[in-house]
Amino acid sequence: MHPLTKDAAKPAPESAGPMAEALSEARAAAERGEVPVGAVIVERATGAIIAAASNRVVELKDPTAHAELLAIRDACRAKGSERLAGCDLHVTLEPCAMCAQAIAFARIDRVYFGASDPKGGGVEHGARIFAQATCHHRPEVYGGLSEQASADLLRAFFAARRPDTSTEPGDGA
Ligand SMILES: [Zn+2]
Repeated sequence: MHPLTKDAAKPAPESAGPMAEALSEARAAAERGEVPVGAVIVERATGAIIAAASNRVVELKDPTAHAELLAIRDACRAKGSERLAGCDLHVTLEPCAMCAQAIAFARIDRVYFGASDPKGGGVEHGARIFAQATCHHRPEVYGGLSEQASADLLRAFFAARRPDTSTEPGDGA
């Protein structure tokens, strides 16, 4: 069985609160000049948010300081374990290949994400990490949660950083 699911018509109700929290993390990242992506990890048995993080790549000068990785590290510290079975991750953007692999290593049960990322995603695009034979833990995946709000944040952020690229041919994304 391969539970890679994208079904915006069937939003998981348990995601609404955590996803709002992830969006608020993403907004905080934008205010710090970081790409606005936020992630939250919820322990399903208690419903408690055990970690919340947003991108800190620029601040930490660390290309691996993505919201998901920072949240996974915090959640593992909180649980005193290198595994996060029984936990779900809510993130505003489709995880990249690096984060998807970390999600698999952490044995996270479910991934809820907001906007799709055709350019940098590694779940439904590119490496499609969870669909590979080398991936030994496949979380359930639900995409398209708060998709519009997540995408709007990213669009506004990049629009503000590139006020006028029309006069600079060749300066692509
Ligand atoms: Zn990532």
